[in-house]
Amino acid sequence: MTSSVAKKLLAPIPEKPAELTLNDRCDRCGAEALVRIVLPKGNDLIMCNHHTNHHELALVAAGGTFYRKNTDHLVQDRSKGDSH
Ligand SMILES: [Zn+2]
Repeated sequence: MTSSVAKKLLAPIPEKPAELTLNDRCDRCGAEALVRIVLPKGNDLIMCNHHTNHHELALVAAGGTFYRKNTDHLVQDRSKGDSH
């Protein structure tokens, strides 16, 4: 049997939200926000890495979608010396 409820659950994921900027601060501690978590109800949270890790299981359980800030410039710093 087909149910219209199942169709609702399979609704397409909304477009990627705006990239986080330096002005976006963790909802919990005020540090630079590196991850935006969009919940199924449409509201979103922004958090630093620390708090994202801390709440990750609950957020995943709540059906949150994680959008990590583009930190290519940070990664570059860490791989200094790698001439690849
Ligand atoms: Zn935080």
